[in-house]
Amino acid sequence: MVRMRIADVQDQIDHELVSKEEIDHKIHEVAAVVSEDYKDKDLLLLAVLKGAVNTLAAFAQAVSIPAQMDFMSLSSYGSGTKSSGTVTIRQDLSTDVRGRHILIVEDIVDSGRTLAWLVEELKRRGAASVEIFALLEKPARREVDVDIKYHGYEIPDEFVVGFGLDYDERFRNLDSIAVLRPEVYQGANE
Ligand code: 5GP
Ligand code: MG
Ligand code: MG
Repeated sequence: MVRMRIADVQDQIDHELVSKEEIDHKIHEVAAVVSEDYKDKDLLLLAVLKGAVNTLAAFAQAVSIPAQMDFMSLSSYGSGTKSSGTVTIRQDLSTDVRGRHILIVEDIVDSGRTLAWLVEELKRRGAASVEIFALLEKPARREVDVDIKYHGYEIPDEFVVGFGLDYDERFRNLDSIAVLRPEVYQGANE
């Protein structure tokens, strides 16, 4: 099978943090639990574009119950690499979420600001329930309290790319999660 692995971009990668096998394993483990928890409910899987697309697609393939999918594009970052706290909707859902049981599938929870805003917004729109699966979490960076029901991997406070996550729109199609070499960023914020 051909795909983009670390070996293909080795000159730009410092080290791998989560392998493709670990990602697959966790997604299938959580999907089994979710399939049981939602067996009598009409499940709506929701991803925030673009980072969570890979996780959502893999997760949807791993659940054993019928599930719908929808997407939303949010802007929560100012010019730098920190959440501004102000969230704006760039592209809204196509689903009326009133009365729906929603599972937000997240790539990574950093400050938690985007997610906290989204949970409140979905509840305000009348969702019957809103839960979260986060493939990655950076506990050291959390600024607001968000109740994550389904956990993936905890990672250190390092900027990661791969499996949907980008640096300047690159590396989203890398098949595992990795830390970039410092040279890749050099000059970027000058
Ligand atoms: P939060 O509102 O939790 O601070 O921001 C979460 C969003 O910021 C994530 O969904 C992701 O898009 C982006 N983000 C946070 N940490 C990282 C990281 O280490 N790498 C990448 N590529 N994006 C990140
Ligand atoms: Mg995200
Ligand atoms: Mg990004």
